[in-house]
Amino acid sequence: MTDFDVDLFVIGGGSGGVRAARIAAGHGAKVMLAEEFRLGGACVIRGCVPKKLLVMASRFHDAFEDAAGFGWTVPEPTFDWPALVRAKEREITRLEGLYAQTQEKAGVRVVKSRAVLEDANTVRLLANGRRIRARHILIATGGRPNIPADLPGAEYAISSNEAFDLPVFPKRILIAGGGYIAVEFAGLFAGLGAEVTLIYRGENILRGFDEDMREGLRNAYEKRGIRFIFNDVFSAIEKTPEGLAARTKGGLSLNADQVMFAIGRSPNVEGLGLDKAGVLLGKDNEIPVDAFSCTNVANIHAVGDVTNRVNLTPVAIREGHAYADTVFGGKPWSVDHADIPTAVFSTPEIGAVGITEIQAKAAYAALDIYRTSFRPMKATLSGREERMIMKLIVDANTDRVVGVHILGEDAGEMAQLLGIAVKMKARKADFDATMALHPSAAEELVTMRTPSERWRRAG
Ligand code: FAD
Ligand code: NDP
Repeated sequence: MTDFDVDLFVIGGGSGGVRAARIAAGHGAKVMLAEEFRLGGACVIRGCVPKKLLVMASRFHDAFEDAAGFGWTVPEPTFDWPALVRAKEREITRLEGLYAQTQEKAGVRVVKSRAVLEDANTVRLLANGRRIRARHILIATGGRPNIPADLPGAEYAISSNEAFDLPVFPKRILIAGGGYIAVEFAGLFAGLGAEVTLIYRGENILRGFDEDMREGLRNAYEKRGIRFIFNDVFSAIEKTPEGLAARTKGGLSLNADQVMFAIGRSPNVEGLGLDKAGVLLGKDNEIPVDAFSCTNVANIHAVGDVTNRVNLTPVAIREGHAYADTVFGGKPWSVDHADIPTAVFSTPEIGAVGITEIQAKAAYAALDIYRTSFRPMKATLSGREERMIMKLIVDANTDRVVGVHILGEDAGEMAQLLGIAVKMKARKADFDATMALHPSAAEELVTMRTPSERWRRAG
């Protein structure tokens, strides 16, 4: 230990970094963590948490509309964007403070600085130039939004980073991309009253999700007034006296107050000094690691988005925890990345766990697929037309439920619980044996008796 200032230096105070630091310190390690922006990382500061708060705000739109069917008279509601941004800021500042306290209580020394590697055991803090010698280094630097640098006028566009703090609410917004962030922000901006156009290079939003969910959400969004432009991308953005004008490769000209890119994120590795430490990068600039999050350099590990495995907060947290237990706690374990429940916080929401129908048809010889689509109870009085969609994909040879997909209210909450059943390798017979909870939407999941499709691989 005499050669080293610390047992562990963590670069990045986001979901993965803070968990690893705290657990390692709990195992008795001397830990230092550097964060260059705000403790909590993408999730707390400009990701999951503020996003969900904005989604919640946007859903009052439906609540006000639906209330009339239940006898309420609601005066014309008005919306104050700066008030929402301030409230959101208060909450993330509170969380940031809690993160700092937790680290301190665990004995982690947190430094507010950018940190870079000088060699495999030396980290330099840019804030004060100090060099720290560390026995182990954990890279947990996350990712950053992609903006196409070669696009004329790209500097006028924003990413999700800026979307959370816009000084003025954009009455018209163009969003590029078709993944989680594009779809979630399209929904929340529309709910808050913006005119939203989503432009995506492919045929339909949310590639990789189940087709019924993609189709169902697209239809629901169209009914809610969100405009889609498929098979097209921006070719230029210009400033105009009224705002911004964007042109597309397909020849369209679109006017807006803001243009937002949500076309994926890249691992945060630029200028980190990985080459000096001998850490190799993968083809998308991710840090390749083994099951125990170890890079090609034995004392340097990486967790979370920077490794580009499954870029979700609970995954980064668990990878950080497993790393700390393995390296400092004498309890080696690795993260199982299979059957991770996920939600798209669109309105209506998507919740999913397990594989899609397309993936199942590639992996299994025989499937029973149960699909249902119904008007949820609330819609009977509210008059809302939107339907809920649920789908179970069952391996017909083993009766195991290999995929569950839900579109509708609380789909994410349901996916979290269904995640337990799928992880336990529940069979359709277990779903059938479970008593329904009435009246609920989720009861449909245990009352679907006849397959909508019995698919058998030909030949
Ligand atoms: P991060 O949380 O990004 O933390 C990395 C930290 O490292 C940052 O704080 C950064 O400032 C710091 N850093 C980088 N380089 C340095 C350096 N050289 N020195 C010092 N500090 C440095 N996931 C979900 O599960 N559910 C969601 O609903 C969800 N919504 C999201 C919404 C948005 C808009 C975004 C962008 C992401 C969302 N995610 C969501 C993904 C989730 O935020 C990430 O998967 C998660 O934050 C990854 O954690 P991490 O520790 O790898 O990185
Ligand atoms: P995604 O990977 O989800 O989606 C990126 C989208 O951008 C895709 O539609 C992709 O198209 C498109 N795209 C990629 N490159 C280009 C390009 N050059 N030009 C035009 N379109 C392009 O990334 P996001 O940025 O939406 O989110 C990043 C990650 O953060 C997510 O993958 C997820 O892991 C996490 N996240 C999770 C959330 C949640 O759990 N609810 C919410 C938000 C983020 P194509 O499909 O054709 O490749």
